Formats: sequence, structure tokens, C-alpha cells
Amino acid sequence: MIKLYNEYSEYLKLKYGEKVYKLPVNIPCTCPNRDGTLGYGGCTFCAEVGTGFEMLDSSLSVKEQLKRNMEYISKKYKADKFIAYFQNYTNTYMDTEKFKNYINDAIADNIVGIAISTRPDCISDEKLRFLDEIHSKYNVNITIELGLQTVNYHTLSNVNRGHTLAEFIDAVLRIKRYNFEICTHIILNLPGDNVLDTVETAKILSALKIEQVKIHSLYIMENTEMGRLYKNNEINIISKDEYVERVVVFLEHLNKDIVVQRLAGRAPKENSLFVNWGMSWWRLKDEILYKMESENRHQGSKSKFN
Ligand code: SF4
Repeated sequence: MIKLYNEYSEYLKLKYGEKVYKLPVNIPCTCPNRDGTLGYGGCTFCAEVGTGFEMLDSSLSVKEQLKRNMEYISKKYKADKFIAYFQNYTNTYMDTEKFKNYINDAIADNIVGIAISTRPDCISDEKLRFLDEIHSKYNVNITIELGLQTVNYHTLSNVNRGHTLAEFIDAVLRIKRYNFEICTHIILNLPGDNVLDTVETAKILSALKIEQVKIHSLYIMENTEMGRLYKNNEINIISKDEYVERVVVFLEHLNKDIVVQRLAGRAPKENSLFVNWGMSWWRLKDEILYKMESENRHQGSKSKFN
């Protein structure tokens, strides 16, 4: 039977021989697009809490956060292997010694992987070399999660991203010198993007041989520039049906081996102005899968880069 898409949980089971869970880690860091280095206020959709609304307090040590999250997850899902996920803001945006301490603190027997979320313009060769040492010394898999959101550099400029497609390509080429995986975060319904951008994003990720992708649907929070535009009716959000179609089109044009971590975004209810057309993320995911199944559409079926 042809798989609808290459699902992350299945990939983890195959790779590690059992279920593996990501444990969020929150370290005190910021983003050059917030602290004035590149800009103030951040991307127009980025809320003060960044992306880590489900996280423990950053004043807790990395070890303590992992311990607490591990206790909770292993009880709930009977899991034994985990990935430490440095999730919030730009986790490589700090001096190298500090970065090394945080990463070293995540090393433990049942941590099989470390995933580090960052921006494409915050990848230094010094930090990559250090991660390579960690990878070899502790046999721990390294995944760099790069926020790109879209390949349309006009949209990137409109959402005040502070980098363009070129920085993303540069980061990918430099990370590719090491035995790491790259996960790219994208948002398929940014205002201004159309289905051509969806197809081009899938094609560029495939051509660059990215290993994983995380698809988000846009959510709009209070106290953001996007929130202000939304309340003033100055931006247009595509319908839920259009989003579902875009996800399917994206998957069709994506290399069949790229692992897909997620099909829709998750957001806190508090302070959100718009999230997933009022549906839960799992109902939205079900609609996407139903469409693929009933229309016989699959990941990679239209990809030239398989
Ligand atoms: S790069 Fe990430 S953390 Fe920085 S402002 Fe944009 S969304 Fe927020």
C-alpha cells in the first residue's frame, strides 16, 4: 500500500526500534530579530512567548526540565527514549561557551537525539563543529530545525523575517557538511503567498535534500503586528478548504522520503485571534488525510526530485 505521507512518528519507530518522544527545553535566549540586531518586534506573527507556550520556565536547568518532562511523558506513553528539543526563539543565538553548556546539560542515557530550533542566519561553523563532536562522542543524533516559513522572499520581507531565501540556502549547505538532519519549518498560508509558492517551497526543500519538514498553519496572536493587521482587516487569510488543498499540493511536490513532522500548527487558546479556522489541529489533520485518501493523492507523486 502506498503511504499517504512519510510520517515522523513512523520514521522514529523505524530508526530507533521503538516510540521516541520530543521533550521541549526552554533556555533563556532571544532572537536577533527582536533584540535590535536585525530588528525589533520580530516576525509579524511572533508573539512575546515565541513558539514555546507548552514549555517549562527557562529559569530551570536543562537537566531539570528534561527530568520533569521525561517523568510525565514516560508515565503517560511508557516511553524510554527521547529527543531533547531546544524549541523556543533562536537557540544558537548566544556565545559558543554558553551554547556548549546547555547542550552538554542535555546529554543523558535515554536522550537519543538533540533538536535545535534556530534561524538560518544564526548558524556558525564553530557551533556546528561542537555539535559534530557531541554527535561522535555520545552517539546522539543532531537535528537542526530551521525556520524558513516560505521561499517567497517578498512574503519574507512583508512578515519582517529579517532574512531571505539566500540565508536559508547558505545555512543548509553549511549544515550539510556534517552528519546532521535538517528540519525546515514552513507556514503554508502566510498572507500574500499563493499555491505557486506552496509548490516552489516543496520543490526547493526537495532539491536541497532536506530530511524533515514541519508544516504549520498560521495562527494569529494578540499583541503582534499580524494581530493588528488582522483586526483592521488588512490581511486576507485563505479558507480552511484552501489550506487543506495547499497541504496536499505541498506533499505531492515534496520528495517522498522527506519526513513530515506536522501538518498544521498548534497554538494556545488564550490571546489567539485566529487559529485553525476554529478547529482542533487533529480534526484539521484528519481532513487533510481524508482528502488525500479519497482523491488518491500521495507525497512525492508530483515531485521531480524523488
Ligand atoms: S525568527 Fe522566530 S523567534 Fe525570531 S521573531 Fe521570528 S518567529 Fe520569533
